[in-house]
Amino acid sequence: MSSLERFLNVVDGADVVSGTGRWLASDDPFTGQPWAEVPQCDAADAAAAVEAAHAALSGPWGRLTATARGKLLRRLADLIEDSAGHLARIETRDNGKLHAEMSGQVRYLPEYYHYFGGLADKVEGGVLPSDKPDVFTYTRHEPLGVVVCITPWNSPLLLLTWKLAAALAAGNTVVIKPSEFTSASTLEFARLAKRAGFPDGVINTVTGYGHEVGDALVTHPKVAKVAFTGGDATGAAIYAKAAAGMKHASMELGGKSPNIIFADANLDDAVKGAISGIFAASGQTCIAGSRLLVQRSVHDEVTRRVVEFAATARLGNPMEADTQVGPITTQPQRRKVLDYIALAKSEGAVCLLGGKVPDDPALNDGWFVEPTIFGNVTNSMRIAREEVFGPILSIIPFEDDEDAIRIANDTIYGLAAGVWTQDMRRAIRMADAIKAGTIWVNTYRAVSFMAPFGGYKQSGIGRENGQAAIHEFLQTKCVWLNLAEGVPNPFVLR
Ligand code: NAD
Repeated sequence: MSSLERFLNVVDGADVVSGTGRWLASDDPFTGQPWAEVPQCDAADAAAAVEAAHAALSGPWGRLTATARGKLLRRLADLIEDSAGHLARIETRDNGKLHAEMSGQVRYLPEYYHYFGGLADKVEGGVLPSDKPDVFTYTRHEPLGVVVCITPWNSPLLLLTWKLAAALAAGNTVVIKPSEFTSASTLEFARLAKRAGFPDGVINTVTGYGHEVGDALVTHPKVAKVAFTGGDATGAAIYAKAAAGMKHASMELGGKSPNIIFADANLDDAVKGAISGIFAASGQTCIAGSRLLVQRSVHDEVTRRVVEFAATARLGNPMEADTQVGPITTQPQRRKVLDYIALAKSEGAVCLLGGKVPDDPALNDGWFVEPTIFGNVTNSMRIAREEVFGPILSIIPFEDDEDAIRIANDTIYGLAAGVWTQDMRRAIRMADAIKAGTIWVNTYRAVSFMAPFGGYKQSGIGRENGQAAIHEFLQTKCVWLNLAEGVPNPFVLR
């Protein structure tokens, strides 16, 4: 028996291990050692979870009113609030992100469940005007059925919540497949849902690898929708498989977001925005402002100030309050980040800060990479075109508004952008011109349960959060009632 802390899946209301009898270790990115384990499930486990979710659609959950569903969501919100510290500690152990950040994220989760809980009974169908006599026609919005939520390792509970709150409010049942690197918090969370009173089978979890469990879920004929957050190659493969089964799909994928500083910006604020845009979460966020576009006339000053500021970052144990930059979440991801640093150097980018694993022996066990800044970057370099998902900033100069727009949009991605200027007309022109799902002006990284989030271009399909998000988990039915006496002879056309 392993000495590691064990977390079990929840399927049909029961705590379950895998039929395989195998376990997957979860590593602590600060110590480089396993600290917990979760069941390593297979396709048979995935199928059992889908069957449970499918059966629950016609059980007590399917008969609940929308108002009652909303109450359950609000009860869950209260339980999350009570357990926020515990859940945040698990997330930090699993993904190495700062405890301060994970704690803030988890304490914010209840807002999503309150919001979508409130929305559950405000989705209205309509009575249609008629172009035909003696008919009464109305619409209803119905749940899709079984929704599979597949999540990545960077913010497991937040990115799950962006799907789950709306999916449940709409009346679906769910099967959750968290990342194989960071499953523990999701399994703990599923226990809270049980305590909140969700009927058995409404919320199920299956842990394991994407190519085993994830694939089995995506291709299961009883799954109606796949809601995915993760890398773009994975997303494209899942989208193709969902299409083959004519399933609904929403995709939240990668980014190469431009953070644009104009000469007329408040440079103190802009420098802080550039830093938080890329070094928060060690750059492991889909919205990372990894391309810093700086107007030529302030380019040298901004570059100097960003480098000086980034150099003050304290790397350390993510559990400690004064740590400012934590480790990279996984060993393969650290390898990828270091490979991109080598690539950027070989492309002719100039390393102005960092560019290596820190020398500090206290950090030796963890998967750290120093905050890294490259100058002399052109937008055609791979370091400016491909998502790194790490603490690497590329600084690119531009001349004027048109040049900034051209560079900002010269990417396959379109998740987010930042604009730093004191000229509001320029801000709005830029917000109109940049092809991205979120534009921040004189701020960066703000998200909310009220604010639609999602990508343009290859950053994704569909929107999470905001009122419209509930419709991503609903389908519309149109009902026709004939009010006339008698049905005419079908062979006599009028
Ligand atoms: P990933 O694509 O490797 O994995 C994401 C999830 O998909 C994991 O749970 C994984 O097990 C599963 N998966 C992998 N192969 C699968 C398959 N064949 N079938 C079904 N499921 C499969 O991504 P990651 O490395 O965990 O996360 C980092 C990526 O996530 C980055 O590219 C980042 O941009 C993206 N991301 C996007 C957003 C957003 O909202 N747009 C937010 C955070 C992260």
